[in-house]
Amino acid sequence: MKEEKTITCIGCPMGCQVTAVLEDGKVTEVTGNTCAIGDRYARKEVICPMRVVTSTVRVKGGNLPVVSVKTNGDIPKKQIAECMRQIRDIELTAPIVAGDVIVKHIVGTDTNVIATKDIQAV
Ligand code: SF4
Repeated sequence: MKEEKTITCIGCPMGCQVTAVLEDGKVTEVTGNTCAIGDRYARKEVICPMRVVTSTVRVKGGNLPVVSVKTNGDIPKKQIAECMRQIRDIELTAPIVAGDVIVKHIVGTDTNVIATKDIQAV
């Protein structure tokens, strides 16, 4: 089966409309991209879209009640809800240093959730 999917490339502010042609679930052609980034983005996005996840985690004993966190790489978009569920259930204890690994291999990926802010113990 042949189908076309047109997406907006997010590789830069130009926002090219990139069309990927899929045949039997495989990308056979990409058009509309101005550069190679758009080609790579479209091939990945139409088969397995990936995203960086940002959120916050509760902290006890700190100068702030939450710490901002993010994944240190992309995770499959379809696993974001499970990722958020896991993050929601965490409570950390201060102190926390930006870069601390909060969850290793979130939702079974090679990606970790890390703190993006320092939280002092009080
Ligand atoms: S295809 Fe290239 S030029 Fe176009 S939006 Fe993507 S990164 Fe920018």
